[in-house]
This record gives sequence, structure tokens and C-alpha cells, in this order.
Amino acid sequence: MKPFTYTALPARVIFGVGTTDRLPDELERLGVKRAMILTTAPQADQGRELADLLGARSAGLYTGAAMHTPVEITEEALARYEDLRADGVVSIGGGSTIGLGKAIALRTDAPQIVLPTSYAGSEMTSIIGQTEQGRKTTQKTLKVLPETVIYDVRYTLSLPAVMTVTSGMNAIAHAVEALYAEGANPVLSLMAEDGIAKMTAALSRVRAAPADLDARSDALYGAWLCAVCLGSGGVALHHKLCHVLGGSFDLPHAETHTVVLPHALAYNAPAVPEAMAAMRRATGSQNPAAALFDLSRESGAPTALKDLGMPEEGIDRAVEITLENPYFNPHPLERDALQALMRAAWAGERPS
Ligand code: NAD
Repeated sequence: MKPFTYTALPARVIFGVGTTDRLPDELERLGVKRAMILTTAPQADQGRELADLLGARSAGLYTGAAMHTPVEITEEALARYEDLRADGVVSIGGGSTIGLGKAIALRTDAPQIVLPTSYAGSEMTSIIGQTEQGRKTTQKTLKVLPETVIYDVRYTLSLPAVMTVTSGMNAIAHAVEALYAEGANPVLSLMAEDGIAKMTAALSRVRAAPADLDARSDALYGAWLCAVCLGSGGVALHHKLCHVLGGSFDLPHAETHTVVLPHALAYNAPAVPEAMAAMRRATGSQNPAAALFDLSRESGAPTALKDLGMPEEGIDRAVEITLENPYFNPHPLERDALQALMRAAWAGERPS
């Protein structure tokens, strides 16, 4: 066996159906007496339910979480956190809400309990991205890693059909790149393969029966495994392309991951035989890149960057930006090949 390094991040994870009931005890465990509950406006009802559950242990609710963690929102939420004399945060929602909780923890060291409702995976990482005057910066610090994550499968029942798939593909992308990123190791590869297998199988089952708790449980469990891959593993070309497309072309997060992933995987396939063997086992397909593309297409999820608002003339610029400051990648980054990749992703061609 090749030598390797594996770093586990310290987080407590509670998983199941109805696990939200554990929230009061978990706050007690962290010594939090007055938790501020964070969410987005569309998920305000879920935030209010938590406030009811917590009673006097709820300091109040803030429902202004927004995409890309804008600093103005963080400052507003922070002022409320101080007004309420809160001593911890409970974040219920997807990556945007979790990002706000992390931003508050970064500035106050507030303990965080997170109840994820999407598959994006931010809850298991020590990464925070923030936006100020249109510029997004990212940092990595254990200060933002949530202390406790409560996965309650019930919250994922309300995920709309297309968001279930795009968010699931976002999760799968973390695991795919952990299989071949710099620092890939056998422990994370186990989690990655099982995460991809659970999520791909569950997405088909959820499509047939969106309220199937077993299928939803497998999807959320798969999302957790994939999130660990993002938190402890590395990323490569796929994440670089998505960061370029999100940052410079303002394309939506999960949808962009969904469109780009099959193409990034096909690009790297010749350089990563072991990762491809794991992908074949996980997807049950001899052509994993095409299998992911088909899963999205059959589910009505986007498969072309042009449908996400990417201008065709932006392709060259996206490739330039990718090459200016590239991430590690197992396959050499070649301008012509990257242009072909981007063109195929823009047009929505099925990878062969
Ligand atoms: P999101 O949090 O922006 O959610 C999109 C919308 O869906 C929101 O209105 C949200 O309230 C709603 N929603 C979430 N769960 C729902 C549910 N179960 N039912 C109904 N509606 C629901 O989107 P996201 O894809 O979860 O997160 C994307 C953001 O997270 C991006 O900004 C991305 O950069 C960030 N992110 C960060 C990390 C990290 O490690 N820092 C990792 C992954 C994603």
C-alpha cells in the first residue's frame, strides 16, 4: 500500500429520522443557553418550529441568510446576535444558511449546531466563502467547523425534485474529486465510493417516490459521506471550473456542478484508472461520466451551461481564468482539451 496522510475533522454527527428532537440536549451538551436560529426566508417556518421546540433556550430567529454569504448580511445577523445576547447558533438550511452560521462563528467563536436540509455538504468542512463588494474570498479555519451536525431525514422531504438531483450531484462531485485529488487516501476513497453509490442509487429511487424515507435516508447518508470527502480531501479541475463559472459568470452553484461533473470526470478518466474502477462499481456503469449525465437528463436537471445563462463567447475567458491559477489535477491541463470540455458542457453534449 502507498503511504498516505489522513486528517479527520472533529465533529459530532447525529443521523436519522426525527433526530431534531435531540437538539435541546445537544445545546445543553455544548453549554448553549440562548441559541439564535438561522435560516432563509423560504425556510422560516422550519426555523419557527425549532424556536418552539427550544422554548426559553431560543434567543430568536434570523431569516435573512443569502447565497454566497454577503458580508452585509453577516453584519446585520451579528448585530442581532449581540442584541439578543445569544451564545450559540443553530443553522437550519442549505449551504447559504450554514455559511452565515460559519461567518458568525468566525467572528465570535459561537458554537454551532447545524441541521442540513440540502446535500451541499458545507456542514462537514472548515471552509468559509464570503462575498464583499462582489468579490468572493475563501478561507479554511477550524473556527468555522460546526461542533454538532444533526441530520434529520425529514427535512429533505421538502427538497424540490430538480434541486434534489442538482444538490445530489453537487455532493457526488466532492466524492469524485476526493478519489483522485492530491492527497487521495484509502480511507476517504472508501467513503467516496460508498457516498457515490448511495447517492446515485437513491436519486433514481427518490425520482420514482419523492417521499420514500428509505431512499431519502440513503441520499442524506450519501451526502454526509461526500461532505466528509470535501472536508478532509482535496479538489481538482471540476471544482476549479465550478469556482470560475460561479465567480466570474455568476452561474448557480449546484446546477453548475451538475452540468460540469460528467465532463470533468471524462477529462480526467484516462489519468485515474483506480478512481474510474471505483466509479464503475459505485454507478454500476462501464461509463460513469455518461451515467451521471443520463441521471441528470432523465431527472429533468440541467445538462448544458447555455441553459444556466453562460454566454458562448465566455468559453475562452473561462478557460483562460482556469489556466491562470490552476488547482492540482491528475491529467495535464491543456488549452485545446479544456476548450473542448467547456464547449461540450456549454452545449450539453453527452460525454462518450
Ligand atoms: P442554498 O442553501 O442557497 O439553498 C437554495 C434554496 O433552497 C434556499 O432558498 C433554501 O432555503 C432552499 N432549501 C434548502 N433546503 C431546502 C429544503 N429541504 N426544502 C425546500 N427548500 C430548501 O443552496 P445549497 O446548494 O444548499 O448551498 C449552496 C451554497 O453553499 C453556495 O453558496 C456554496 O458556495 C456553499 N457551499 C459551501 C461549502 C463550504 O464548505 N463552505 C460547501 C458546499 C456549498
